[in-house]
Amino acid sequence: MLIDTFGRVATDLRVSLTDRCNLRCTYCMPEEGLQWLAKPDLLTDDEIVRLIGIAVTELGITDVRFTGGEPLLRPGLVSIVDRVAALEPRPKMSLTTNGIGLQRTARALADAGLDRVNVSLDTLRPDVFQAMTRRKRHGDVLDGLAAARDAGLTPVKVNSVLMPGLNDDEAPDLLAWAVENEYELRFIEQMPLDAQHGWKREGMITAGDILASLRTRFDLTPEGDDARGSAPAERWIVDGGPARVGVIASVTRPFCAACDRTRLTADGQIRTCLFAQEESDLRGALRSGAADEEIAGLWKRAMWGKKAGSGLDDPSFLQPQRPMSAIGG
Ligand code: SAM
Ligand code: SF4
Repeated sequence: MLIDTFGRVATDLRVSLTDRCNLRCTYCMPEEGLQWLAKPDLLTDDEIVRLIGIAVTELGITDVRFTGGEPLLRPGLVSIVDRVAALEPRPKMSLTTNGIGLQRTARALADAGLDRVNVSLDTLRPDVFQAMTRRKRHGDVLDGLAAARDAGLTPVKVNSVLMPGLNDDEAPDLLAWAVENEYELRFIEQMPLDAQHGWKREGMITAGDILASLRTRFDLTPEGDDARGSAPAERWIVDGGPARVGVIASVTRPFCAACDRTRLTADGQIRTCLFAQEESDLRGALRSGAADEEIAGLWKRAMWGKKAGSGLDDPSFLQPQRPMSAIGG
């Protein structure tokens, strides 16, 4: 088991498959100038499948989520999913993606064994999409979402970040659209994980703001802590159900005490938290011929050092050096 000194057990593994992306969301990446990881530093497909195998068979991981950067840019994605689906015990597998290209690959991913997807979409307005992502790909994301639903990668969840002055008036429209299309919408508070270090707490759109805005049009009933478990999203039943809406309030209502995650970066580093300052190198061990038990031991040791919380509220908080796109969001 992966257990820390606070008794938390990690069962959910986030695997970043690349730090590259075909969008440039303003809260994530600068327009240009971000240094990509060097190709030889990236884990190969075989190395990724081996590490996931160790996590699943030796360390109690039951859920694997592929992310990035943009994971659909990884050429071997379908084959990685296929190989992970063959592991015993078979973990549940999901993908967090910006949806571009999903129209082409949704069916193959579902056939390979992917269970579901989260697609990020912050706005229903193409011009706002372009302002927020610096690319004209709004239609591709909508097509990708529909393809995921049609391929049975359900429930399809939609992740939205609200930014002041850009899309902060869109929460009710996004929810109405999600309910109509049978997507489960989750708002994510903007976190200090952008490569440009431009995040400011003042002015950020909080969970409180989002809920107040939604309540102007919808009746929201809290789903309650039992239903939440270790999920980061607090959920509300919309207009009596069955639709739900979630809010991931990492900044204003952190859920660190219930965290069940461990993270593997595309270059083979273990991180115990998005906000961790430390990483533990598994790639070096892999490439120097370490046995599975040795790698499992390094992973357990890393987990043992997991901090109690993100430290966001600590006056000495320092943003991690790696941006979200290189950690795996
Ligand atoms: N490219 C994929 C995507 O956009 O879904 C996967 C990686 S992305 C880093 C994962 C999620 O993190 C997305 O939903 C994105 O909106 C969110 N995200 C990125 N930067 C963020 C930030 N500074 N604060 C909150 N969420 C952020
Ligand atoms: Fe790319 Fe996802 Fe970051 Fe947007 S949030 S720039 S889609 S990695």
